[in-house]
Amino acid sequence: MEKTLRFGPIAVPLSQAFFASKHAFGLVNLKPIRPGHVLVVSRRPARRFAELTPDEVADLFVQGQRVSRTIERLHRAEALTLCIQDGAAAGQTVPHVHLHVIPRRPGDFADNDDVYRELDATGRQPRVDNPECTPRTPADMAAEALVLRAELGGWDDSSVC
Ligand code: AMP
Repeated sequence: MEKTLRFGPIAVPLSQAFFASKHAFGLVNLKPIRPGHVLVVSRRPARRFAELTPDEVADLFVQGQRVSRTIERLHRAEALTLCIQDGAAAGQTVPHVHLHVIPRRPGDFADNDDVYRELDATGRQPRVDNPECTPRTPADMAAEALVLRAELGGWDDSSVC
């Protein structure tokens, strides 16, 4: 049976993760709002940012910065939206701290702040109006994770339990 990592109530297959550090892991997105939209998730399933220890905060952001550089380069972006929806009232749909990393280009959303509207909607409703937001297949997600694993310096399954 394939190993899994916990993402809120969801057991995500290890094949969809692309790095694992002491306190964080990288997860490709089931419903990205743009190609390259990935998540950096706390290893401990804390619900709220304030629950993280200083070491966990540091690792989440150090890894988030590493992932950001790679995502921006691979997707030929020139900016990033980095965002935590911290609590249900802020749009969080998976109650487990995670940083969204979204590559950005000029004009990629009709209104620049639409990124936040799409982010808020993606976990709540099927995105019938945007084909890039339909849930992806496990094979697609695993293929993206393989590319990111190689870019970020390899992967060792045994480092994750
Ligand atoms: P939020 O609404 O801020 O809690 O973000 C939840 C994110 O998790 C959204 O980007 C979803 O597309 C993503 N998501 C939900 N379920 C899964 C899953 N099984 N695997 C990967 N990403 C997921």
